[in-house]
Amino acid sequence: MAISVPSRHLFIDGEWREPTKKNRIPIVNPSTEEIIGDIPAATAEDVELAVAAARRALKRNNGEEWASASGAHRAKYLRAIAAKAWNFMANSFLHISSGTITKKKDQLAKLEAIDCGKPLDEAAWDIDDVAACFEYYADLAESLDAKQKAPIVLPMETFKCHVLKQPIGVVALITPWNYPLLMATWKVAPALAAGCAAILKPSELASVTCLELAEVCREVGLPPGVFNILTGLGMEAGAPLAAHPDVDKVAFTGSTATGSKIMSSAAQLVKPVTLELGGKSPIVVFEDVDLDKAAEWTAFGCFWTNGQICSATSRLLVHESIALKFFDRLVKWCKNIKVSDPFEEGCRLGPVVSKGQYEKVMKFISTAKSEGGTILCGGSRPEHLKRGYFVEPTIISDVSTSMQIWREEVFGPVLCVKTFSSEDEAIELANDTPYGLAAAVLSKDLDRCERMTKAFQAGIVWVNCSQPCFCQAPWGGTKRSGFGRELGEWGIENYLNIKQVTQYISDEPWGWSTYSR
Ligand code: NAD
Repeated sequence: MAISVPSRHLFIDGEWREPTKKNRIPIVNPSTEEIIGDIPAATAEDVELAVAAARRALKRNNGEEWASASGAHRAKYLRAIAAKAWNFMANSFLHISSGTITKKKDQLAKLEAIDCGKPLDEAAWDIDDVAACFEYYADLAESLDAKQKAPIVLPMETFKCHVLKQPIGVVALITPWNYPLLMATWKVAPALAAGCAAILKPSELASVTCLELAEVCREVGLPPGVFNILTGLGMEAGAPLAAHPDVDKVAFTGSTATGSKIMSSAAQLVKPVTLELGGKSPIVVFEDVDLDKAAEWTAFGCFWTNGQICSATSRLLVHESIALKFFDRLVKWCKNIKVSDPFEEGCRLGPVVSKGQYEKVMKFISTAKSEGGTILCGGSRPEHLKRGYFVEPTIISDVSTSMQIWREEVFGPVLCVKTFSSEDEAIELANDTPYGLAAAVLSKDLDRCERMTKAFQAGIVWVNCSQPCFCQAPWGGTKRSGFGRELGEWGIENYLNIKQVTQYISDEPWGWSTYSR
């Protein structure tokens, strides 16, 4: 084993604390199927403790209240967390892009790889993004100070008006397993920047690096209760957390089915929610593309992160005039993808996260075959890997729009393909999904790309690429992919209440005394 997994408890009120019921959940390395440790399993009793600690933390911070402290004050902590997670603070962005790996980054990347099967290179990339996200929200926390009290121009000079942006309060952050630390960071960083106190409930399938984030917070001296982590099962830890009356907001990333349950529970108390849910995104390839580049973007867009990307462009639409040539290139590309243990040099596709996920993906493939689909490549476990939850990169053609593989999210390395003959048909097929997270178009004709961009029903559009993501740009979906936007300036707004402040500044009477008929 390349790294051992630290044994941790829950992190509540700035301390490691054994779960009340003392239950633990085994961690299975998806590459070897071996148990490599365990995580604490929180229950409703621990939710009570964490919510109370977070509530206290809003008002306690060595004399200065966390929630009402300046953004600049909170930014110092976010920068310290980034430095711990990234450890590059003395330098600049160039420093990371030159590939320097510091001690903590190396450890976090290895833990991510062993916990969820992510290829080590990709895991290291994620850790860079984690640090960049904390840095970015440190900047936004500072700029929040300058934006406070910005005047609003009213039509009457006898009044002046401004807006105060204040933290929402105690927030529950519930996250999935595909980018364990990064998805958590997309919520934790803006929530802390805004002045909220956060309780993170990561996925029971990949909590290890999130627990290490808690250790980083402890090391940098984040005030107790500002960041808490409750690992455990969705029903035992997530549901009571989301439903808790003293939680002011729920930010959720995960499946559409769970998102819908969280929305119902939040509705009882009219609690705001942000939902980042599933997807079945299209990639549209026109006849004028460079075939090799387009094949690489298509493969990357679906098989990166072991195919477990919410925004995976997992429905390929190719112009019929290049279809056969393009499938040929694509299949060659896929056969060159190295499927292996994530720690092997050059690994590009590791295992899917769990036995349950492996069985689900295999069932999707067999159903597609039974419904008339043709496997162009992949479709099984790679012959050279006898253990672990590995699935070959799989491409399925002869797909109709009524087939399950076209309509439902697989969340594994499976791409389905169809041809089209006109731009209108491409759009119709692209939008033929209940989801609306992302869409990609590949063409040299930029006017056409612009028309497609406007017509896609999606929250994110990639032109001549698929999947790049920057913490400065908004992220989120439409339709059943959820609502609200994370990242960028929109990300911090999720955790702020807007208060209108209107002041009367005249000595003249106003109101009833000035009524006239
Ligand atoms: P999931 O819905 O099964 O679980 C997500 C989280 O919710 C986990 O922490 C889980 O323990 C918790 N949970 C489960 N039931 C709960 C309940 N009743 N109440 C409260 N919490 C509960 O999703 P998953 O399998 O972990 O993740 C995969 C899904 O996440 C895919 O559908 C994927 O598309 C989606 N995803 C979306 C985005 C995005 O940005 N839109 C990003 C990553 C993943």
